[in-house]
Amino acid sequence: MIVRATKKALTAILDIAYPGVCLSCEAPLEGPWELPLCGTCMVKADFAGDMMCPRCGAGVVRDPEEMRMCPKCHNLKLNFRRAVSLAPYEGPMGEVVRALKFLGRRALAKPLGRMLAAILRRQDFTQHLDVIVPVPIHWRRRFKRGFNQSELIARHIARVLDLPVDRDSLRRIRHTRPQTRLSRGERLSNLKGAFRIRRPDAIKGRNVLLVDDVMTTGGTVTECAREIRKAGAGQIFVAVAAR
Ligand SMILES: [Zn+2]
Ligand SMILES: [Zn+2]
Repeated sequence: MIVRATKKALTAILDIAYPGVCLSCEAPLEGPWELPLCGTCMVKADFAGDMMCPRCGAGVVRDPEEMRMCPKCHNLKLNFRRAVSLAPYEGPMGEVVRALKFLGRRALAKPLGRMLAAILRRQDFTQHLDVIVPVPIHWRRRFKRGFNQSELIARHIARVLDLPVDRDSLRRIRHTRPQTRLSRGERLSNLKGAFRIRRPDAIKGRNVLLVDDVMTTGGTVTECAREIRKAGAGQIFVAVAAR
C-alpha cells in the first residue's frame, strides 16, 4: 500500500514538474495540444490520421496501391475486423506510451483516448460499437504498476463516445514474459492460453472495441480477439495508441 501511495505521489509530481516541455526532446511546448509533444516531435511522430491500413490500423498506407498489401499485416491472420492507431511506436508516440506505462504518467491516457475517439468517430466505427474492453494485464503486474494503461485509455475513449467499459469479462490468467525480445512465433506461444473470458454472457452478441496501448506484431490483440469471438461476440474492432 505504501509503495502504491508513494508511486501515486511521484506520478502527480512528475505531471506537475514537466508541464511545459516536450516529452520527447524537452523543448518548450508552444502549442495548445493536449499531448506534451512540441511541433517538431508532432511531425516526427508521423500521425496516421485517416491514412491507415483498413485492416490493421498501421499508418503505412500512403496510396491506394499500398492498401492492397500492407507491409505490416499482409501475412498475418487477425481475429478482428478492423483496427485504428494514432502513430508508429518507433517515433515519439512510443515515448509517450512508455512514459504512461513505465513512468506512471497517467494523465497521458486522456489525450490518447480522446484522439482515438476522434478517429473512431471520423472513420464511422462508432455506430457499430456496444462495449469497450481493455486488454487486461495480469493482476500481479497491475498490483506492481498500480494501474492498467489500456484501461485508462479505454475509459477516456468511453467518456467521449458514451460507451460502457467492461474490465471484468476478459481476464489475463497467465503472467507472461515481456514480449519485446521474443520472435513472432515465440510471442504467439508465449500468449497461448494467457486470456480467458469470465463472463461470456456480457460479451455474447455484442460488438466489441478492444483497446491496447501498443500493437506490434498483433499477437496480444489477436489472442484476446480469439477469446472474445469464442464467447460469441459480434464484430470485433481494435484501437491502439501506437502501432
Ligand atoms: Zn519535441
Ligand atoms: Zn495492415
